[in-house]
Amino acid sequence: MRADGKSNRSLKRWYSIINRRFFNSQLPTNVIVRWSLPDEESDIASCNHALDKRHTYVLLLNKAKIATRSQLLSALAHECIHCQTGMHDNHGPAFALIHTDLVNRGLYRKHALLHGVTLV
Ligand SMILES: [Zn+2]
Repeated sequence: MRADGKSNRSLKRWYSIINRRFFNSQLPTNVIVRWSLPDEESDIASCNHALDKRHTYVLLLNKAKIATRSQLLSALAHECIHCQTGMHDNHGPAFALIHTDLVNRGLYRKHALLHGVTLV
């Protein structure tokens, strides 16, 4: 059985920054954001409903598949979109609409989140 686990401070901080700057702080704050355990996550990242009642989602980042900060922030932003859609739409029209909005607001421009870094 999967356990929710605890947030990684640095990853949760990035989640909060993306939430504030690109989602108008509309994403839930009671989420767990952490690195996945070995063999816990096969994709680069994922978003799932939390098992406990205190948290809304658990966002996992797969260190084995993330080599750069650009990949990390891009993967995290992607999972943030799933949070925004309430996990209802997968990668459908609602997801695409939010993604386009993030593009228009400059999330994928150089320096958007970190000096010298362009999200992939
Ligand atoms: Zn996705």
